[in-house]
Amino acid sequence: MRAAETIAPGSHLIDNCMDKAAFEPAAASSAPSGEQGPELLSVDRVVKEYQTDGEAVPALNDVSLQVRAGQFVAVVGRSGCGKSTLLHLAGAMDFPTRGHVRLDGIATDSLNEMQLTRLRREKVGFIFQSFQLLHTLSVVENVELPLLLAGRANPRSHAMDRLATVGLADLAHRMPHQLSGGQMQRVAIARGLVHSPRILLADEPTGNLDSATGTSIIHLLRQICSEHRTAIMMATHSIEAAAVVDTTIRMRDGRIEPS
Ligand code: ADP
Ligand code: MG
Repeated sequence: MRAAETIAPGSHLIDNCMDKAAFEPAAASSAPSGEQGPELLSVDRVVKEYQTDGEAVPALNDVSLQVRAGQFVAVVGRSGCGKSTLLHLAGAMDFPTRGHVRLDGIATDSLNEMQLTRLRREKVGFIFQSFQLLHTLSVVENVELPLLLAGRANPRSHAMDRLATVGLADLAHRMPHQLSGGQMQRVAIARGLVHSPRILLADEPTGNLDSATGTSIIHLLRQICSEHRTAIMMATHSIEAAAVVDTTIRMRDGRIEPS
């Protein structure tokens, strides 16, 4: 068991830089839709309680699930049911009170700080409802920043590749305030992918967007998942998502509801 840690907002943006910066479509990208790879994330009988004013606040109660490489999973349920908590545990940003989370076979509660930083850098990307772009940097500077901070080679060309993936190469030199909400979220997706993570964790990525724009973001995530075999776990209220994802997990009061 490991105590929960406080992680500064946005710190994972700096951590999320991996050794292998290439983002080649996987050889298996022509596999039929729905065919998935080896197990990437395993959540095993996880209980999560937060301590607030000496009181235990239950957030997850005996949650188990698996996500495979190339699988697109939606997590749905009312506000407060535990979706964000589950994503934080999946991304090794926080730790279970009981039970285990394994990323690519590695138990997140077995690592020291350096190993954890490396695990996050190599395996995990995050995107958020509020985009979390830095408004004093241009689009391409936002996307390349995690690679620059980690001292990676050719950050600009990798950032341009990812902007091409999300259809925004032409807007690379704009400032964030010159973009629409949907375009800002595409930039955030490019930044979340810049280090070629194995799994992208998306916390209500369409929550600030109109429904047509939200639908286009969900289709973009579907395309990334299928073409690059990046697993995606997405907390969402979007009713469009069910038709696009491989699996929908319904949560209620910290538990997964039987399907
Ligand atoms: P959701 O993302 O589905 O809205 P959350 O995972 O944010 O749900 O929250 C699950 C439960 O845990 C809620 O009761 C919430 O109030 C509580 N919670 C979340 N984060 C904290 C925290 N840092 N400290 C105390 N309680 C928290
Ligand atoms: Mg939430």
